[in-house]
Amino acid sequence: MTLGIGVLISLGLPITYYTLERLALRQMAAIYARTVAEKFEDVVRASPDLWRYTAPKYHAVIQDFADDKDYPISAIRVVDATGQPLLAHEPGTARPPRWWRRLSPTGSAPILFNNRTVATVHVTITHGTLLVVTVGLLVLSTAAGAALAVLVYFVPVRVVRGMEREVERSNTEITRRSAQQQSLIEASRLLASTLDFDEVLGRLTEIARTLLGVDIVRIWLADPHSADLVLRAQAGATHLGVEHRQRFAHGEGLAGIIMSSGSALVLADVMVHPAVKNRDWFKAEGIQSFLGVPLRMNRIPVGVLASMSRLPRAWSEEEIRTAKWLAVAAAIAIRNAQLYDDASSRLERMRRLTRLSQTVTSSLDIQDVLAAVTEAAADLLGGDLVRLWTIDDSGAPRLAASHARPGLAVPGPPPLVTPPTIAWVMEHRTNRYSPNLAEEPLEIGIDRTRSSGCTSQIAAPLVLGDRALGALAVLSAAPRRWTQEEEELLELFAATAAASLDNARLFAATRAQATALREKNAELDAFVYSVSHDLKAPLVTIQGMAGLLLEDCAATLGAVGTHYVARIRSNIEQMERLIADLLALSRVGREGRSPERVSLAECVDVVLAELAEPIRTRGVKVTCGDLATVWAVRTQIEQVVANLVSNAVKYMGDTASPTIEIATTDAGEFVECSVRDNGVGIAPAHHEKIFEIFQRLKEVEAEGTGVGLAIVKKIVDGVGGRVWVESEPGRGSTFRFTWPKPSGSAHGIV
Ligand code: ADP
Repeated sequence: MTLGIGVLISLGLPITYYTLERLALRQMAAIYARTVAEKFEDVVRASPDLWRYTAPKYHAVIQDFADDKDYPISAIRVVDATGQPLLAHEPGTARPPRWWRRLSPTGSAPILFNNRTVATVHVTITHGTLLVVTVGLLVLSTAAGAALAVLVYFVPVRVVRGMEREVERSNTEITRRSAQQQSLIEASRLLASTLDFDEVLGRLTEIARTLLGVDIVRIWLADPHSADLVLRAQAGATHLGVEHRQRFAHGEGLAGIIMSSGSALVLADVMVHPAVKNRDWFKAEGIQSFLGVPLRMNRIPVGVLASMSRLPRAWSEEEIRTAKWLAVAAAIAIRNAQLYDDASSRLERMRRLTRLSQTVTSSLDIQDVLAAVTEAAADLLGGDLVRLWTIDDSGAPRLAASHARPGLAVPGPPPLVTPPTIAWVMEHRTNRYSPNLAEEPLEIGIDRTRSSGCTSQIAAPLVLGDRALGALAVLSAAPRRWTQEEEELLELFAATAAASLDNARLFAATRAQATALREKNAELDAFVYSVSHDLKAPLVTIQGMAGLLLEDCAATLGAVGTHYVARIRSNIEQMERLIADLLALSRVGREGRSPERVSLAECVDVVLAELAEPIRTRGVKVTCGDLATVWAVRTQIEQVVANLVSNAVKYMGDTASPTIEIATTDAGEFVECSVRDNGVGIAPAHHEKIFEIFQRLKEVEAEGTGVGLAIVKKIVDGVGGRVWVESEPGRGSTFRFTWPKPSGSAHGIV
């Protein structure tokens, strides 16, 4: 290419010059020939026959013309139509050298007569200068072209060679880096492909061993429960075996230095470093050089990645960078795996919490709850001993329950006095973590707290609303930390435990109250029964005596006396009714009969037969729909229906067409029965009151004791039903009550 450029430059310039100049010479020669020809045409015209003979006279004209010109004319010739020379002029005596003498004309022009060529003028112009200049130019441009070609050839070749060398070097570097990148990407992919924590660590050590070409790689991680560094993974065989239990106390050993400094430790010769702790191990394993980098999460060192070589080795910048990169990738992978592990274990814990909470809340027996709470807390927080303190009615805390891990020897009896930490937790209603009870500021000098033989304790208050019910203490024999999550779990569990304890307590109190109430009611019933019973006998006597008085002493008594005795008798009758009703009330629930299927239609028939007299007298029309069957003690349901129907008749008032409608409807497991009348009605204000004993309304004068509806309510309540009234004054009343169906009929089986 450079040769081409050189040739182009060396030939191009002279050729161009030569061609252009030649063209100019030819044109000039043609013009000169034309000028001469024009002169001869005048001569031809003047004497067409003789001009050939006079032509030589014009030699001088041609000569003048030739001498006077810018271009050196070497010859002017005039030839006739057959080519015979007529006239010639060749100026200059010195002939140019033969080698470039050119006799051929440079330009020609015809001499015309009547448009016919009679002769031709040839002009020859000297090429000498043109050739000299062209040769000069050729020499010059060849020199310039050659120089340029040399320049063009040598300079770029040098640059290109340099560039080639550079590219080659870059290529090698790129290949090396891309191989490394490939390994690192492969490492990332491997690390990202699993969420199993131990697998991540295992893979990571293997990758580090391959990438760094070392003998042993180890990973230590900080134990969340203590500040110790624990060996978690190793790649490469060690003569002494993998010591997975190997621990370093905080700040101890080479790993400790890396942890506390947070930067890499690069040792070409490991034995000379003063911090090497297990020198024997290094010696036994033949470890010579060490490269350790911290694993950081959120900028905080959480572990160490240590690469060890059995050969003396000066670690290159590149290797240190790779180790650091591995540490970053590892930290991310570990973090992911940890997050996954945390999430899984959190889920598992939450499941356990739910299960344990269910166990704790499933019982209402206080002793069962106490035992379940302590056992569940030990399970949930991995404690060796759990103690539960409650505040008794006098406000003093006492140890209510404890649960020790099977096999844990608890030295000494349980403390009689509340430990200050527990009192503090209850008072402040806050958790308290004591890593070492022997150094717990609250317990200084109090020996009894350590009688449990435990070192660490976490205690949470049992709080419900604004009340502290007690405290729950989880103790560990070995020094132990509880994570924030565990502490929150304890808090959650304590809340459930507090609610369960309170429920159990409330349940116990309610049960005691209910029992007491039942006993009181039974006592009252027995009292009412015996009083009513005892009153009956003297009343019968008084009634008999009053009868005798009226019969035998009517004359003596006179009209006034007879009236008084009659009043006495009617009051006695009222008292007898009262006693009968009270006896009926006190008997409710003590009939000692078994429930059976009772047809309400039959029951209503019995009641209507009993009340036939007042119904007829008052002229009441009674209608019944299709009545259901119930599950009842027959006398009880008859008593309810009789009371409601007799009241409907009694409180009919002066209604023109008195009517009573009895009906039943389905109410799930119950039958709803209604007794509707169109009597006087009851103001809403009294709808509740009338079911209380001795509550009578004054609207209608009717015989009664005010006990009937109380009996109805007591019976209906007793079977789990409900009784109520819908009424307004003057618009009649509808009494409704619900009663259990026979078993199975709720599902259509009767
Ligand atoms: P009593 O012996 O007075 O009938 P009850 O306990 O049966 O006692 O009824 C209490 C009160 O409720 C009655 O005194 C009456 O005022 C009112 N009462 C009960 N049933 C009806 C009814 N069907 N219509 C209007 N008032 C009624």
